[in-house]
Amino acid sequence: MKCSLINLGCKVNAYETESIGRMLEEEGYERVEVGEPSDVTVIFTCAVTNTAAAKSRKMIHRARRMNPDGVICVAGCYAQIEPEVLEDADVLVGSAHKRMIPEYIRQFQETHIPVRDLSDPSADGFETLLTDRFADRTRAFLKIQDGCNQFCTYCIIPFARGRERSMAPDTVIEEIRRISASHSEVVLAGIHTGRYGKEYGITLTQLMERILKEVPELQRLRISSIEVTELSGEFLDLMEREPRIARHLHIPLQSGSDMVLKRMGRPYTTADYLKRIQEIRQRIPDISISTDLMVGFPGESEEAFEEVLAFVRRCEFSFLHVFPFSLRKGTAAEHLDGHVDPQVKKQRAARCIELSNELKERYIQSMLGKEVVILTETETSGYTGEYLEAVLSSPMAKGRMVKAVLTSYNNGILEAEGSGYLETE
Ligand code: SF4
Repeated sequence: MKCSLINLGCKVNAYETESIGRMLEEEGYERVEVGEPSDVTVIFTCAVTNTAAAKSRKMIHRARRMNPDGVICVAGCYAQIEPEVLEDADVLVGSAHKRMIPEYIRQFQETHIPVRDLSDPSADGFETLLTDRFADRTRAFLKIQDGCNQFCTYCIIPFARGRERSMAPDTVIEEIRRISASHSEVVLAGIHTGRYGKEYGITLTQLMERILKEVPELQRLRISSIEVTELSGEFLDLMEREPRIARHLHIPLQSGSDMVLKRMGRPYTTADYLKRIQEIRQRIPDISISTDLMVGFPGESEEAFEEVLAFVRRCEFSFLHVFPFSLRKGTAAEHLDGHVDPQVKKQRAARCIELSNELKERYIQSMLGKEVVILTETETSGYTGEYLEAVLSSPMAKGRMVKAVLTSYNNGILEAEGSGYLETE
């Protein structure tokens, strides 16, 4: 039996897709590429934008055309919020009980009765999904948290993924120990990772402290993203004294206009944000700080957009992830006035991408001549803790932490000279 899996969403979705892939392989399925004939197709959908939702629908029809007798299983965020438009699926699973997917597929194969599980995503707490398969052989992801309680006015995630919940701390340690046998870096991921551990009476910082102490063989620990309001003094203390924590923080800003931030329901002002990142830079010089930026939110006037650009420049980010606002049915933004013309949104996004390129160039130039630690993914390249991809002037062993100096940046290629290995154990 053959199976193929498609992920249409974010990194957390990718993690879940791989985890289900692993379960199907354990059941004896051979994993094939999407587009090849397969007995089972699993589609992990995304609901974050309208385009992602349309893509999910298209993919189901394509899978059906390619495998008219195969089982089509559709899972994830979009399945949770708009199951009625995905009626074509044989197995439809929302955000809860993804671990049941292999079982549900079996059930359908036996009975030919469509299976539906659209239970409340947070009713049963955190669903532990594990995987061994990652995009590269040095960096691994571990999803430690799911759901969100914040309800920003543009965001569908709290509806699609339910309330906050976390993986048990002991399970996190166990998993990181297992992953560290084959991977040098672990990225802690989640939907609202900074809120990890409420139900266990432990903070994200305390969890990270435990990981670093109890898994000494782990060479680098990274967090996928953290909200500015969750960057506690405790977190910065740990980061300052622990070189194994990557020198990169992705801190979603979303808008650089206070009026827009308020309309978005984000719990900080630009002044709060700037103060925090200035403090971080003071304590951890040269750190790379990147961000998410949403442009064209309802009410974002020309003037507000210019404020955004100016504020982004002041923050000196190392790069931006830019998203034009896309209205999701069921979110509070539906009731806001001042919707921005799609063409204007596109132009604003293009200007922000241009700015991101400029900021990236500036950050890299500021790092030239500095010492970094590169985790080698091949013998001649790897990523620094700041998440800069660098090419080594002479080969070093793969999967090792290499001390290096960044020497030049030309035509998008950052070069480094290695001087030896960093011993972390
Ligand atoms: S913090 Fe806001 S943007 Fe992030 S997942 Fe929660 S509601 Fe969505």
